[in-house]
Amino acid sequence: MSGRGAYYKNLYGSRRGRGRGGGPAEAGSARGAKRRNDDDSGRSAEDLVRELKRLDGKSYPAYRDVQGSWDYSDPPFRLHIDHVQSDPFAPPSKVRIRVPQAAAQLPPSLFANRTRQVALCDFLARRLHDAAVALSKAHGAQKSRRWAGAKGGELTADRPGQQVLERSAVVLDASDGALEARFTVGFPAQGRTILGEWAAEIFRASVPALARTLLYDAHKESVHAFVDSVEDQECLRRAVTEAGLVAFVADGAVLPRASGASDAPMRGPHVVPFRAPPALARTFALPHRGSIAGMGIPVGITMVAGGGFHGKSTLLDALAVGCYSHVPGDGREFVVTSEKCVSVQGEDGRSIQCVDISPFIHDLPGGASTAAFSTQDASGSTSMAAGVVEALELGADTLLFDEDTCATNFLVRDLRMRRLIEADPINPLIFKIRAMLQEHRCSSILVIGGCGDYCDVADLVLEMRQYQCYDITEKAREIAQEIPSVVSASEMPTFGAVRLRRLDTKTLPSPSMKAAVRRRAAIDVGDETLDLTKVAQLVHDSQSRAIVMALKFLHTQPPGRTLSEYLVILQSLMDDASIDALMEDDRIDGFLARPRTIEVGMAINRLVSPSEEMRAVH
Ligand code: ADP
Ligand code: MG
Repeated sequence: MSGRGAYYKNLYGSRRGRGRGGGPAEAGSARGAKRRNDDDSGRSAEDLVRELKRLDGKSYPAYRDVQGSWDYSDPPFRLHIDHVQSDPFAPPSKVRIRVPQAAAQLPPSLFANRTRQVALCDFLARRLHDAAVALSKAHGAQKSRRWAGAKGGELTADRPGQQVLERSAVVLDASDGALEARFTVGFPAQGRTILGEWAAEIFRASVPALARTLLYDAHKESVHAFVDSVEDQECLRRAVTEAGLVAFVADGAVLPRASGASDAPMRGPHVVPFRAPPALARTFALPHRGSIAGMGIPVGITMVAGGGFHGKSTLLDALAVGCYSHVPGDGREFVVTSEKCVSVQGEDGRSIQCVDISPFIHDLPGGASTAAFSTQDASGSTSMAAGVVEALELGADTLLFDEDTCATNFLVRDLRMRRLIEADPINPLIFKIRAMLQEHRCSSILVIGGCGDYCDVADLVLEMRQYQCYDITEKAREIAQEIPSVVSASEMPTFGAVRLRRLDTKTLPSPSMKAAVRRRAAIDVGDETLDLTKVAQLVHDSQSRAIVMALKFLHTQPPGRTLSEYLVILQSLMDDASIDALMEDDRIDGFLARPRTIEVGMAINRLVSPSEEMRAVH
């Protein structure tokens, strides 16, 4: 066994050993790849259709008879009915289709490396979703709430958002090149009586139509541009970091969204495309698109100023999701930030466990320790102090702050307030931000509309005016000299060490615990609701579902490591295998999307009871 194989055996052995499939000698890539693919072969699609017709009029549980595998010939694929719902009101039935490479006919260039493979599968997942919606409509899916009404018939595949992510909806099996799509089918019924003719029609016509969305022939024209664009975005993100920048915004980028409720680009003549201020213009060469020009934001402290409603938050929001690639046409494809950028917001009411917030806060009333601070109900400022320290612990190299969503007393304190309130326990960020850059190599980008003191600490000052970006660093320097502030006299020379906390994995949700994702930012874990509203870079509810699985996976890891070490293990698991590996045993869920391990860490940091056992290590 190679060193790497042995390494993964060690890491995952304890969990995989309990699995139905994975033998202990298999490397990490086999974890989760073991599937019920070869059972029940031989039954044909025609058999399935006949069987469903036979079930017409029977009571619902008889649908269980069609569980298993069925072979189709046009196009050639195998259907796996993995789980049939127990009644019409239960979550819909889980099915997969596997199209062999020989039928899909995808040119190998489309999956020549991991990035292209993720992009290809994301592209196909979008087509799968669109086709599932159209077919459900065409075949009259019913969502009757009346008990006796006809219901079912809907085909549901995960619905991707604007970000290109590794997803479990469509995966490419590295061992044989087969494409596998996962979706659900609402097996149709009237009351609790099987509507077999309708079910037969779904599996005779709609399911092969979905399989066709995986064939190269269907997308010859569009798939290459999509995959190339994603590879360009990944290359740009790497090149930007290597060039000593933390972010890049391409000329022509469309940053504003259609509405507060939609992540689609704003369209129309009033959209002002981005244009780099000349002093910050940078050009990069991309493998497919050629050269691309735009604004580079260097490592350091950047302040984005400007009047209200001039586009500051819109720029920062685009930068926050710049750690992900976007679909072509999104407008933010070539807005990229460091993969380790973290958006920090005020989050009063959150729980905090054993975080050393002493760089920012000391002498709390009642003498509560701030070197290992815990609370179930943080204030605005303590939540931000914890947010910054936790981000550094998770390896952040760039922090994003928007004055709109920050606690002001965490950002600044002016001379008058210092006189008025002598015993304020807070060292505001402005006095620590330079030391954070120097000691922890962590840059900051701050949207500031009101606190002009930041002119003293900013290396770069941008202004958003009428949605255009200007470099006003010189002007800000002059003003800082003309109108002195207390900053230079109060800046702190050191930030302080960030201690890595030990995590007791047994306090994370166990694999058997009930956990459900209600929406992106609300996960029910046992009796608690984990609120991830302020985890701004969690962009999809499928990522939240993957986080639940990640927490359960980490629960099974042996004790004794720090939070960051566990996240490295998780990262290796997802890198070495695929997102399927998050699932226990050989179960499959087509509704997962890969989160960054940073978001997994942020979720752990917000768990109420489980992380009580977190202990700082020295
Ligand atoms: P600020 O944070 O400076 O107050 P916002 O970023 O919230 O401003 O933007 C204010 C409004 O302007 C939003 O409705 C946003 O969609 C819109 N907007 C932002 N940037 C642009 C742009 N480049 N072109 C057109 N509209 C924009
Ligand atoms: Mg704003």
